[in-house]
Amino acid sequence: MTKIGLEIHCQLTNLESKLFCSCKANYREFEINENICPICMGLPGSLPRLNQEAVKKATIIAMALNCTIPDKIAFFRKNYFYPDLPKNFQITQLNIYGDTSIGGTGSIMVGDKKIKITRIQLEEDPGRLIYEGSSSKNLITLVDYNRAGTPLVEIVTEPDFENPKQVREFLNILSDLLENLGVSDPSLDGAMRADANVSIEGGKKVEIKNIGSFHDLEKATIFEITRQESLHSRNIAIIQETRHWDEQRKITVSSRSKEEDLDYRYFLEGDIPWVKIDPEIQKELKSQMPESINSKKERYISQFDIPTQVASVLSSDKFYSDLFEVSHTKSNAKEIANIITTDLMGLVDTREKREESKITAKHLTDLTDSIQSGKISRNSAKNALYEIVKTGKDLSQVITELDLGNVSDESELLHIIREVISEESQAVLEAKSNPQTINYLVGKVMQKTKGKADPTLTLDLLKKQIG
Ligand SMILES: [Zn+2]
Repeated sequence: MTKIGLEIHCQLTNLESKLFCSCKANYREFEINENICPICMGLPGSLPRLNQEAVKKATIIAMALNCTIPDKIAFFRKNYFYPDLPKNFQITQLNIYGDTSIGGTGSIMVGDKKIKITRIQLEEDPGRLIYEGSSSKNLITLVDYNRAGTPLVEIVTEPDFENPKQVREFLNILSDLLENLGVSDPSLDGAMRADANVSIEGGKKVEIKNIGSFHDLEKATIFEITRQESLHSRNIAIIQETRHWDEQRKITVSSRSKEEDLDYRYFLEGDIPWVKIDPEIQKELKSQMPESINSKKERYISQFDIPTQVASVLSSDKFYSDLFEVSHTKSNAKEIANIITTDLMGLVDTREKREESKITAKHLTDLTDSIQSGKISRNSAKNALYEIVKTGKDLSQVITELDLGNVSDESELLHIIREVISEESQAVLEAKSNPQTINYLVGKVMQKTKGKADPTLTLDLLKKQIG
């Protein structure tokens, strides 16, 4: 049986400052090597100061993943020399003097499958290496320390995954969950990275490092399983090793360096005191936790009778469920959920488009009001939505400018209906014996009015005219 375990590195992107200094956590907006200070550069004499908010956010993640929370947390130095690490050690966590990592054992459900969490730890991110040329043959490597010291949460799972598909489902659930908690924005480049360990029946465990995106994680596990199965079928032993994911070639390659825990010479970080996570704080954090995706979904179904599929899509996306929460009322909830999931999600489907989008909750309320009062048709609402997302104009202005208002003036509509009746004499005859055909005639009226005829009124008038 194939076994896959994951180590997921998730940046706490919604924090103000780095984990141990006051440099910005949002390093992405800086010029290279401008978001640094003596602390995150590890200059002699500098002292780290633990970011309390980071501890709180990491605790929230641990609670959301049903992990045990220790009474006290401690930090350790993980010693290794690499140019992206200015201090020559990384401040991280380790369960060597009892459980002192921010999260102990926990679990998360992926469909019917329970994935066990081994532990969660809070640590600092290293800097970023920029290779000139390919990673195997580069002559120059540049280093940007803006990211060094930014807060990172590492989530370690048990090898509970049986195939890459389960891995992908888990990652989708996890990134929705982290986004919903307001602790991380998974769509930011590099915000979620992972290592995976993969073994097949009868083979040794192989670790894959440096997988830069969730998309590649699935590819890397598929590649690795295929590689191991191919060795196995030729009776070649699968050795225990660390391999690197080559992003360009989309393959795993054996890595020459192999560190064991012993090589890191872990020891307690004496500059940071042990921190108590007392039950009062836990209680307070629990009360501040946002409603879970599952509970939102159940509420949408039971309160507003929204179909399961729509409720599931809506609740799992924080951007859209936030928009829904502020725009809906009991009477328009279903309509708003439909507009969001069928029309808006298609129009605004990338991070960039979300940032550029001008849509507000009021727009959605106005749209559903206008549909429900018969002022515009659903078809026109779709056109209006497109314009609103682009320009942010008021709905009433959009209706006037694009002439989207329903044709609800009886005499005007009657005029068009008479035209249709004279053009469609055969269908009119049929409609007398087969009531279904009348829908065809309504369709013709809609065509002539470019979808703006009030459907109820059209049907009424048509019936009267046909007799
Ligand atoms: Zn700093």
